Amino acid sequence: MRQLLKNAVAGLALAATGALGGAALADVTIIHAGELLAVPGKAAKKEQSVIVEDGRIKAVEDGYVDASAYGDDAKVIDLKDGFVMPGMMDMHVHLQGELGPNGDSETLRWSSEEVGMHSVHFANKTLMAGFTTVRNLGSSSPQHMYALRNAIARGWIDGPRIVASGGVSPTGGHGDVDGMRHDLLEKYTAKTICNGPYDCRRAVREAIKYGADVIKITATGGVLSDTDTGTGQQMADDELKEIMDTAHSLGRKVAAHAHAAEGINAALRAGVDSIEHGSYADAESIKLFKKSGAYLVPTLIAGDTVVGMAKSSNFMSPAIKEKALRVGADMLSHFETAHKAGVKIAFGTDSGVSQHGTNAREALLMQKGGMKPMDILKSATVNAADLINMSDSLGTIEAGKHADIIGMHGSPLENLEELMDVDFVMKAGKAVKNK
Ligand SMILES: [Zn+2]
Repeated sequence: MRQLLKNAVAGLALAATGALGGAALADVTIIHAGELLAVPGKAAKKEQSVIVEDGRIKAVEDGYVDASAYGDDAKVIDLKDGFVMPGMMDMHVHLQGELGPNGDSETLRWSSEEVGMHSVHFANKTLMAGFTTVRNLGSSSPQHMYALRNAIARGWIDGPRIVASGGVSPTGGHGDVDGMRHDLLEKYTAKTICNGPYDCRRAVREAIKYGADVIKITATGGVLSDTDTGTGQQMADDELKEIMDTAHSLGRKVAAHAHAAEGINAALRAGVDSIEHGSYADAESIKLFKKSGAYLVPTLIAGDTVVGMAKSSNFMSPAIKEKALRVGADMLSHFETAHKAGVKIAFGTDSGVSQHGTNAREALLMQKGGMKPMDILKSATVNAADLINMSDSLGTIEAGKHADIIGMHGSPLENLEELMDVDFVMKAGKAVKNK
């Protein structure tokens, strides 16, 4: 049976090569950029041309090159009035939902199929906002994330390229189900809930088996879990260590949701690759961040959003409200301290808490926390690409990389609000927005 299948697949591959063989012409697009920030962190240049061939960047040339030099069919996209940079990357989103004025009540009302369709809509909004790559760090059903990731990768629908997580959490932790009666809690408890190092080793293997590109753990309690167990450390040191060893040995990175300092520090000591939120990072955390080279993914917009919701809506239980007001208010100052001390920052929003498509608002909050526009752009491109191990193919506009390119009218280096109004989006060489 297996051999039969193999032969069939080999046959298909041959047929495909035959069809494409011969005179397949390269698909060339040339972008004329009024100002180009090819490599965030280095100076932008005026009057540049980006040559895109078959979805990849072929070259960047000074001046506005003539398309005819690149073949009869070479297309030109005129962004001479614009500012052009690499597609932005959001390292923390939840594309399978969005918190509304009534909380996440949809979770209980909507079919799995509707959730799937909704996530297609959110993925599109995210792409149109200029975010060409995201890490999808959790959904009530991981298979929703993997299906969306695969559908986009296969070109069935337009959306950002997705690095999707598998969640590993202790019983009753932030990644476990909450806020329902006991029999429903039992029914919806995921197989990747684990307790003790060996069980967590199993959970990591299980998450990867079913499709996880990255492991997301909940090292501490979380704001939106309906429990009064706080935001302190919830995974034990031995569990953390086992999770890192297992994930890393299988070629996966680990992202840790963490608010309280002791949970941040325990995850960093165990060798985590990124801390999500990091709301109470302290002096010890900063030392550990710098020693290990782990990234902080600040998600300031999530803090800002839950504070607003705690004040303006009434879906939050008293337990959630208390945490929202406290943690939300404390995030910015800790971010400011960590960033000033030289902790590596990768851009991330926790969108799904905030509205999809408004991801760039995070940049304005980062600026409020003392970060310079160029550093913010770098966090959303070069740093993010490094965090997901894709620096060789994403994060800058340089020969050989994926043609993930965005454009806007003014320079975000002068006015960051320009990021909120992206006019041009190209992903893998396909212009999906050009207004
Ligand atoms: Zn999140």
